[in-house]
Amino acid sequence: MDKDELWHSALAEIELSLSKPNFVTWFRNTSLASKKDGVAFVSTPSTFIKEWLEDKYNLLILKTLRGISNDIKEVRFIIKPPTATEESKSAKKKELLPPILTDHQLNLSESGTPDKETNLNPKYTLDSFIVGSSNQLAHAAAVSVSKNIGAAYNPLFIYGGVGLGKTHLLQAIGNEIIKNNPKNKVRYMSSEKFLGDLINSIRNRTVEKFKEEYKKINLLIVDDIQFIAGKEKTQEEFFHIFNELYANNNQIVLSSDRPPKAIPTLEERLRSRFEGGMIADITPPDYETRVAILKAKITEKKLDELGDDVLGFIAGAVTKNIRELEGTLNRVMMSCQVANIPPTLDKVKSILSITNNNNKTSPKIIIKTVSEFYDIKEDELINQSRKREIVLPRQICMYLMREELRNSYPFIGSKFGGRDHTTVMHACDKISREIQTNENLMDEINIIKGRIYEL
Ligand code: ADP
Ligand code: MG
Repeated sequence: MDKDELWHSALAEIELSLSKPNFVTWFRNTSLASKKDGVAFVSTPSTFIKEWLEDKYNLLILKTLRGISNDIKEVRFIIKPPTATEESKSAKKKELLPPILTDHQLNLSESGTPDKETNLNPKYTLDSFIVGSSNQLAHAAAVSVSKNIGAAYNPLFIYGGVGLGKTHLLQAIGNEIIKNNPKNKVRYMSSEKFLGDLINSIRNRTVEKFKEEYKKINLLIVDDIQFIAGKEKTQEEFFHIFNELYANNNQIVLSSDRPPKAIPTLEERLRSRFEGGMIADITPPDYETRVAILKAKITEKKLDELGDDVLGFIAGAVTKNIRELEGTLNRVMMSCQVANIPPTLDKVKSILSITNNNNKTSPKIIIKTVSEFYDIKEDELINQSRKREIVLPRQICMYLMREELRNSYPFIGSKFGGRDHTTVMHACDKISREIQTNENLMDEINIIKGRIYEL
């Protein structure tokens, strides 16, 4: 049996144990790349799919392959986007589905992973940051700081709402400074990470070492500094590190969801330090900037061109949050690709408006779709199970009922075995927060939404 036959037989078995949508989503465009020394290398079209198969179906795949060829001891997954010829070949075969977007196109895992030392992700650059009136000042300050580290504005404090590009800009400064001089020691961190590291150093009695490490840094970037509010010890240590860096003309860049004076329980001495440099805000982008951002993302992700009417429609529909704008673009592309239809204005309108149309779905459909997607039983989802693999899907159901149907918290609770409304609130909150940073989760939810509305 050659490797193609082997994989074919394995797929035939796997198909029986999964729901049709799951089988199609996760196994389309997979193949057996090679088999060597007991290791089967399964080729997948994208990082997203690879990670999903590793996490959820590794064992199933291994067992199935072993059942057919017992010399296989291990399964490993590799990424290999389907080539054009493979795609056209598979398109000719009726039973095979349209090709999915490759990783590159969807940008599901993004080009880079953060550098271990600096925590900088190379994908965030000044070049890829679109400038408009909403972020002009912050951008100009960032450019200035990158050219005159420690000398232009110190600290640079950037504030603004969720998904407006603070992290992008902060990281871009770091990347630029390393590009200009690789000897510069740069460190990017969230204030929560700072807090966590500090707590560890206290526990391990290595606070002095912790502080020493910071003093060597030329550019310290702390994202979402508002989270240190109310944490006295953290503020105190941060104050000392700040002073030390500042005194030696090292650069500090901070971000927050609000200006220093609006952060409650921020110590006065820190507030005045934060206000001592340059403060720049980022506001929601205007229409032209939103269109420009969409165009840039299409080029960056090598997506198919969209008509100006479609771009304009998306830019008109999502106004407050650039991450959401990007997510909507991905959703439109993914939905059209999965259904194998071109993204015309009418289609895109229906994709986006359907999502806001509560006649088209119901709690029942949401629960059914989510349980199918995660391959779990509906009553487990509804009832008391506290298993981790059930809890997250349940929270996603609650979130979707809230977002898509505008159901009240008590109503949603009643659909899940009479759970308390605070549990539901917590679930909705948690998912909304998590999709801000967890791209895989956002993609999963987008796929689920697509299925809910049968796109
Ligand atoms: P914040 O930290 O303010 O919540 P992010 O920096 O994480 O927001 O931005 C959210 C997403 O939007 C990121 O993918 C980012 O690359 C993108 N983005 C934000 N602003 C811009 C911009 N001006 N140009 C291009 N992409 C942007
Ligand atoms: Mg951020």
